[in-house]
Amino acid sequence: MQRIILYYKFVPLTDPEAVRLWQLALAEGLNLRGRIIIAEHGINGTLGGDMKDLKRYIKLTRTHSAFKGMVFKWSDGKRADFPKLNVRVRPEIVTFGVPHKIRVSSQGVIGGGARLKPEQLHQLIDKKGKENVIFFDGRNAYEAAIGKFKGAVVGSVDHTRDFVKEIKKPKYTNLKDKTVVTYCTGGVRCEVLSMLMKEEGFRDVYQLDGGIVKYGEAFGNEGLWEGSLYVFDQRISVPLGPQVKAIGRCSHCQKPAGSFGDCRNTDCNRLFIACEVCAGKQYCADCSLLKATT
Ligand SMILES: [Zn+2]
Ligand SMILES: [Zn+2]
Repeated sequence: MQRIILYYKFVPLTDPEAVRLWQLALAEGLNLRGRIIIAEHGINGTLGGDMKDLKRYIKLTRTHSAFKGMVFKWSDGKRADFPKLNVRVRPEIVTFGVPHKIRVSSQGVIGGGARLKPEQLHQLIDKKGKENVIFFDGRNAYEAAIGKFKGAVVGSVDHTRDFVKEIKKPKYTNLKDKTVVTYCTGGVRCEVLSMLMKEEGFRDVYQLDGGIVKYGEAFGNEGLWEGSLYVFDQRISVPLGPQVKAIGRCSHCQKPAGSFGDCRNTDCNRLFIACEVCAGKQYCADCSLLKATT
């Protein structure tokens, strides 16, 4: 029985390199694959492997005083969804390009938006009214193309670091007096994004605690979410529940689409939105055209 775990914690680490060596030995010894990033601000990981090994990993990781009580999210998947094990020290555990702006305590990022559990999100909307609560997608635009909260604002963002400029754009000025809820896959990006938005003058910013993953566990497709969830491993997308509404458009045939194909042109290498039929195509729509005309 294999699974995937996702986790992060913002917490001050005085010796990231020592943590890296310990984590590498631990994950390697348990035959896990995936990615662990360690920084002075904390840890962020996704690992796949046997369930018993993952449980052992969780238990031993929590023995470190900094990681006591860290939340681990379980997801369907397996070791082979990752090509290898990668454990690195970086300036940030999620790359906004502003390591100097991030200050953390044992409670997480200092100055971030108030955290909302999935039920609390619904309560907030009931209280303030649907039209007064704005969802702000904390992910890249291509992730949102196959699934997002209904009516969410999606930025022109190809990389997380693009948010630093994005939130300064005048088109968001009118959101500064509104209630804004940021969300991302597991919550890690919103810890920093909500802090940056508050710094930028957004007055009433919340973040969805545990991200779309936790929301999906609570409400599946029954709530305010539509489409699939993009994930950064070989699964590419996962449903939150049965009967997923395909909100994307196939880049080949324009039919409703909820997944991606992978362009095999090595100069392109892009993921393209594709319906079930076209997901098997070798090239994205642009490269197919090029091939046909040359
Ligand atoms: Zn298609
Ligand atoms: Zn292509």
